[in-house]
Amino acid sequence: MNQLNRRQWLASLTFAALGAPAYARSLQTTINTQDPARSPLPLKDYEPRSMLRVTETKVERARFPVIDFHTHLSFTDRNAKPEKALFRAKREEILPVMDRKNLRAMVNLTGGYGAALEENIRYWQAPSPDRFIIFTEPWFNKASDAGYQQFQADQIERAKKAGARGLKVLKTLGLYLRENGATGPLVKVDDKRFDQMWEACGAMKMPVAIHTSDPEAFFLLTDRFNERYEELSAHPDWSFHGKDFPSNRELHEARLRVIARHPKTQFVALHVGDSEDLNWVSEWLDRHANLSVEIGARIGELGRQPRAARKFFDKYQDRILFGTDAIPYGNETPQQIFGELLYEIYFRFLETEDEYFDYAPAPIPPQGRWKIYGLGLPESILKKVYYENAARLLGLSS
Ligand SMILES: [Zn+2]
Repeated sequence: MNQLNRRQWLASLTFAALGAPAYARSLQTTINTQDPARSPLPLKDYEPRSMLRVTETKVERARFPVIDFHTHLSFTDRNAKPEKALFRAKREEILPVMDRKNLRAMVNLTGGYGAALEENIRYWQAPSPDRFIIFTEPWFNKASDAGYQQFQADQIERAKKAGARGLKVLKTLGLYLRENGATGPLVKVDDKRFDQMWEACGAMKMPVAIHTSDPEAFFLLTDRFNERYEELSAHPDWSFHGKDFPSNRELHEARLRVIARHPKTQFVALHVGDSEDLNWVSEWLDRHANLSVEIGARIGELGRQPRAARKFFDKYQDRILFGTDAIPYGNETPQQIFGELLYEIYFRFLETEDEYFDYAPAPIPPQGRWKIYGLGLPESILKKVYYENAARLLGLSS
């Protein structure tokens, strides 16, 4: 849904009971909200402005060079034959922003596979391998084919030879990928058919960036108790409540079994693994030496528990990677639209002790109505999180 459709849709929810044409009514909503005598104010129109007079530090440039380990500069048209890379932006649009923000390199995780992967490597990585790094992805569309295990392991080797530096696994695994296309049961994250793939990544020294599950509220009913009510209302397809979906916990546990089974493979759990339960993620990190985490699109979670987050960064400073989940253009997810503002918020969160500020460049906090607090990390930890930890996993010199 684009922005206008989303507004119309939300308005139609408000007025559906009145049986009025949604769009005509939505115009009326605008008028009604101007009138304090009319109540209640619809939630979607509530934009409270903080009256706190607190320090605002503008961090235009990261204090140290950065690798953004989690970006999406392209996606893959999986139905095209051969598969086709869909670029979200041009190199010349991205590079000046990187230079201004002190981004040494960006990892395009969704580099695809087959012909799309080769296109990505040719366009992004080949002209400037020190600035753009491309990961490959599994051929999920072949996952139900006979001989997939071996095929997929071979493809990892082939991708490595073509120039791919790691493997990205979308949350597709566990939440969308089904046996025999759309009809069968969901394929489990720890399904044995991927064992050779995980092993091949270890043998090829390709780190695995894996996104599993989602915020726990996505697994609950979208009702008045759901803290992501607005986010889920705007994106009803993000809900994994009911049907045959596994629970958040089952998904994470399946991933942990994979990590335990392949100790020579380096795994990076994207989105802090489970940013809502840092105690649990700490247990994972204590148990599995081959696991790191990345923070993309979760400063909203880390920043609303700043004391726990600060301790977490102290303790696991060698295993936390900087990432944003940045996607060039679009308006669906303000917390991950590539641009200067996005990076300034991340730098402010990591570098300053500013209090009570927005985690996304948006008038209404898109992932939930709260604000965040800066961690004020010391320089030694910043250097690791911004650059050194990712460089080590990617085999770059620091
Ligand atoms: Zn992502």
